[in-house]
Amino acid sequence: MMDMQRNAAGAAPLGILGGTFDPIHYAHLLLAEHAREQLGLSRVVFIPSARPPHKLDSPVTEPGHRYEMTRLATASNPYFEVSRREMDRHGPSYSITTIREIAAETGASVYFIVGADSVLDMVHWRQPDDILSEAHVATAGRPGFDMSRIPEALGPERAGKVQVFHAPLSNVSSTMIRERVAHGQSIRYMVPDSVEQYIRQHDLYQG
Ligand code: ATP
Repeated sequence: MMDMQRNAAGAAPLGILGGTFDPIHYAHLLLAEHAREQLGLSRVVFIPSARPPHKLDSPVTEPGHRYEMTRLATASNPYFEVSRREMDRHGPSYSITTIREIAAETGASVYFIVGADSVLDMVHWRQPDDILSEAHVATAGRPGFDMSRIPEALGPERAGKVQVFHAPLSNVSSTMIRERVAHGQSIRYMVPDSVEQYIRQHDLYQG
């Protein structure tokens, strides 16, 4: 902790990675680890969503399973932790609420880590301007999503506040994993072994 860059309040910056994590996969872990390294974060908090506001139409695996898989996937990294705060909150979870809570509790500057698809969609989030002023929004590429479209999608002023870092690209998605499990196909090397075992033990994603 001694070598961490600190803000005026003395708390080292931290990252948060929100997601449905249905299930968590290696692209999520790569995103978090490379954000941590390049942005000098003291830790990255993974926050499984309760019922994602943008996915209200599609069924999502119960939060307890998604939390447990996220915990298993991150257990070996001392810089990673998992928070239940959105799952335990009543009502829908909005990123701005989570950012404000974490900033108030820790006094740290908060990096809000998102994939390119999410940042391109940012105008549809609740209070995007508050998110951009109260957190550092940091993004890396995702295959199929053109980051050069960020200024067009957000407007130049908002786009100027988005920080870009580099993570190895992977087109793995939770949708791909759910579909592969349902079709009896391999998900090895797409998710940690512990997550695959959990999926098998609990018969998740059988379609
Ligand atoms: P689904 O397929 O169910 O929509 P997902 O794979 O996109 O899920 P989420 O839990 O919705 O996973 O994503 C959490 C965060 O991780 C988002 O910010 C998303 O942009 C990012 N992310 C997910 N997969 C990738 C990927 N392959 N490359 C880069 N970022 C990713």
